[in-house]
Amino acid sequence: MEIYKTETDININEYSNTLRKFMAGKVIPAEAKLYKERHEANGPENISKDKISLISDLQDEARHLGLYGQFFPKQYGGMFNQLSDYLMIAQIEGYSEFGPEIFGSEISLDIHTLKKYGTSHIQKAYTAAIADGRYTSSYGMTEPNANGSVPHTFTTIGTPCHDGWLINGRKWFICRAKTAKVILTLVRTPPEYDHSDQNSRCSNEASFSLMLVDTKSAGFRVERPIPLFGNYQGQCELSYDSVFVPTSHVLGTIGDGMNIVKERLMTGRLLRSAQWLGLAQRCYDLMCDRVNSEHGKRIYLSSKQLIRQQAVTAYQKLISARAIHMQAASLLDQHKNAAVEVNLAKVSASEALCIAADVAIQVHGAEGFSDRTSLPHIFHLARMTRILDGAEEALVSSIGKQLLDQPPSFLENSHDVMSNVFSHHNGAPTHCTMNNTQQDSIHTPIYAHTSTA
Ligand SMILES: Cc1cc2nc3c(=O)[nH]c(=O)nc-3n(C[C@H](O)[C@H](O)[C@H](O)COP(=O)(O)OP(=O)(O)OC[C@H]3O[C@@H](n4cnc5c(N)ncnc54)[C@H](O)[C@@H]3O)c2cc1C
Repeated sequence: MEIYKTETDININEYSNTLRKFMAGKVIPAEAKLYKERHEANGPENISKDKISLISDLQDEARHLGLYGQFFPKQYGGMFNQLSDYLMIAQIEGYSEFGPEIFGSEISLDIHTLKKYGTSHIQKAYTAAIADGRYTSSYGMTEPNANGSVPHTFTTIGTPCHDGWLINGRKWFICRAKTAKVILTLVRTPPEYDHSDQNSRCSNEASFSLMLVDTKSAGFRVERPIPLFGNYQGQCELSYDSVFVPTSHVLGTIGDGMNIVKERLMTGRLLRSAQWLGLAQRCYDLMCDRVNSEHGKRIYLSSKQLIRQQAVTAYQKLISARAIHMQAASLLDQHKNAAVEVNLAKVSASEALCIAADVAIQVHGAEGFSDRTSLPHIFHLARMTRILDGAEEALVSSIGKQLLDQPPSFLENSHDVMSNVFSHHNGAPTHCTMNNTQQDSIHTPIYAHTSTA
């Protein structure tokens, strides 16, 4: 993607301070209401409801302050072109589960994909409208009768017809599907796919294409919302019944689908990991608040060795994950192969979040399960990170294979190995435009008392 090419021309220190203030003053205090509104958006009567109103209000305020869509392509108002710079900011945006939606980062990948692979018709009709908030987009890959970890099992199919394609199949767990104007949909296209032949399911990757489906098309249906852990969070099951897609809605060329998906997965995994690291920091901060609160002081929590050990473990996982994450971002910025580091960063961020959420709940006692903080919601999200964006086992297996097939030789390549580590002073790559003060500003806890009560 072309997002890594130019230097960031923004005062990151100033920007992160404004963002932190907005997060602490506006987003965190609104969280309890946001969770309630999101769950209530469930149900068929709300199927055409445009957006959750409080989210829209906060998005408007963020836009007004210049905090929205900063990772969009420059043409659509983005300011951060260096991935490693933006990922620092994405950690602050991720301090609340709602941050990625409020600050527009959750749709930034779609916009980059449409800009790079969309026809001029798509740019005119959709991309600008998605960037300025008139339309929402989503990404449809996973299927009910297939395994998301193994794309060759997907069966949603595109059949050529006059001037385009007819899509038939189902997708599920698709985020923002109820409100989306378009779904970037992964479909099988010729070389011919024979459903009766199991071997053909393993046919080559060129049999997938990515198509932009307008949700107003005949035959497209949002079948049902899918609550996760009992709470509706925007995921739905979709059906495509001979949905017509014009040729101008094919992204890239026919057969390019899997390459585009792989390309966006790299950036996407790092983006999500940054947000999870932000949430892990939030849990860590909540844990510290509790230990140092009147409640915690009454039983001398900070003096207990087992509590200290939990704090150390949570912190160690968090800062280790952050270092791996920045290393992966730096490699991507330098256009180097980063497959191992990106997947490791995803697995590490997920682990850091799972541990931080668990520890934070533990030190809160029973109150940790209550609605006094956002911890129960974060705990559920943390559990989902082990599957979302690539099941943990599939990633670990792939990392292990690459490491064993091509063991990095320390003695032969010690310069490369060490420079990857040492180019990240204080968690930031040396070519990053931030200085140490800016770094400190970003890693300082955002909000001392984060209760949503
Ligand atoms: C909150 C959330 C949001 C999502 N949003 C979207 C979205 O917007 N768009 C979209 O297309 N999808 C979305 N998904 C789906 C997600 O991408 C898939 O769940 C994920 O890719 C895993 O696929 P699967 O669920 O089909 O599990 P499967 O691939 O069937 O895997 C099931 C289990 O099998 C095991 N397994 C799989 N592979 C291996 C392996 N190689 N080695 C060992 N064990 C293995 C693991 O235990 C794994 O959890 C979302 C999911 C969640 C939870």
